[in-house]
Amino acid sequence: MRLVWHRGDLRLHDHPALLEALGEGPVVGLVVLDPNNLKTTPRRRAWFLENVRALREAYRRRGGALWVLEGLPWEKVPEAARRLRAKAVYALKSHTPYGRHRDERVREALEVPLHLLPASHLIPPDLPKAYRVYTPFRRNLQDLSPPLPAPEALPQAPEEGEIPQETSDVPLPPPGEEAALARLYSFLEEKLPRYAEARDRLDGEGGSRLSPYFTLGVLSPRLAAWEALKRGGKGALKWVDELIWRDFSHHLLHHFPWMRERPLDPRWEALPWNEDEALFQAWLEGRTGVPLVDAAMRELGATGLLSNRARMCVAQFAVKYLLLPWRKAEAAFKALLLDGDTAQNLQGWQWAGGLGVDAAPYFRVFNLVEQGKRHDPGGAWLRRYAPEYPSYEPMDPVVDLEEARRRYLALAEDLVKR
Ligand code: FAD
Repeated sequence: MRLVWHRGDLRLHDHPALLEALGEGPVVGLVVLDPNNLKTTPRRRAWFLENVRALREAYRRRGGALWVLEGLPWEKVPEAARRLRAKAVYALKSHTPYGRHRDERVREALEVPLHLLPASHLIPPDLPKAYRVYTPFRRNLQDLSPPLPAPEALPQAPEEGEIPQETSDVPLPPPGEEAALARLYSFLEEKLPRYAEARDRLDGEGGSRLSPYFTLGVLSPRLAAWEALKRGGKGALKWVDELIWRDFSHHLLHHFPWMRERPLDPRWEALPWNEDEALFQAWLEGRTGVPLVDAAMRELGATGLLSNRARMCVAQFAVKYLLLPWRKAEAAFKALLLDGDTAQNLQGWQWAGGLGVDAAPYFRVFNLVEQGKRHDPGGAWLRRYAPEYPSYEPMDPVVDLEEARRRYLALAEDLVKR
């Protein structure tokens, strides 16, 4: 018997560890409900648990079994291996600081080998050279190898463990890889050709809305990129670029794990961060008097999703206009996201906040009125989430936008000159 341990890869398609283990003999799947990962908001826990349930169904439909054990991985993986008399454990490589620490502890605790196979990145995050800028990182892209098929049948085995129920405070997308694949193919047919122009829409309708699936590995990014490139065109190239931004995020966190605590460019640590709790709450709950920011933060609270353009605007507003402690804002923002991912969220915040990711210049400060007019031209998104505003003009805002912009630029220029 071999054990296939699923972590951020809750799927059967394009799964090198599963196929390699099956090549050796019978397998049982395993998910560990790790308290270190489940210490999060109910919506994020519910989304995870529903996808574990869908994975168990996928195993069952093929005749196989998924064990679900609650506890610390360095206790539960060896326990499952012992009880099943497994000859080895197979998993896909993780690149996060916690994932690497966890896997080392599990390896030490196991009496059988732990085989870690490459996860489905387009560019592996652990390139020997560390990049801070996207374009040179992207040059490492090589021809993609074709995605691997899901096994049609799985060996019979007894099942173990219950999956707890959790109530989400937001509607969840349909869980599981079949739902993810259906969404992928409808996006590719209907929206991919116009993606390059439509991706900036504030209502998020120009994008695929696949991020909650990618975050849990319910959908393989390599399969998604492969299918997009097969269709070709400007939209496909742009979309694959975004998938590479995902890999770039994981690359940054792999090489600079301290970016969880500090700006990638340490000069920005010295900005005079504003600890005003009432101001922080006004931003978080969408009560700033700035229509774009309020609509976005309310959409996030109500749905757990948000377009990339709106994320850039609210993160930049928090960092540059309000000087809110960026680490606290980044964590609170991630807790609301169904697709919340440590690497991508940190990259997004440090990029939008001009804190050192990529070549984003500190002096780029969005005009939040113009952004609204340009990316929500009919105003339908604004009316949906912040209907009290007749337009994108601020009404009794927590800061005067022009004054705040000038104050930030003066502070930033001072830090740059030092
Ligand atoms: P599409 O436009 O269809 O793109 C396809 C996929 O590419 C996405 O699903 C995502 O996996 C990846 N992707 C797209 N844009 C980016 C990007 N700029 N950086 C990295 N990957 C990208 N994405 C997350 O998945 N989790 C996060 O926690 C997260 N936090 C963010 C925080 C901020 C401040 C910013 C500016 C961006 C953040 N992003 C995050 C990236 C991006 O906003 C979302 O991935 C995207 O909005 C999801 O919508 P979509 O699935 O329709 O994307």
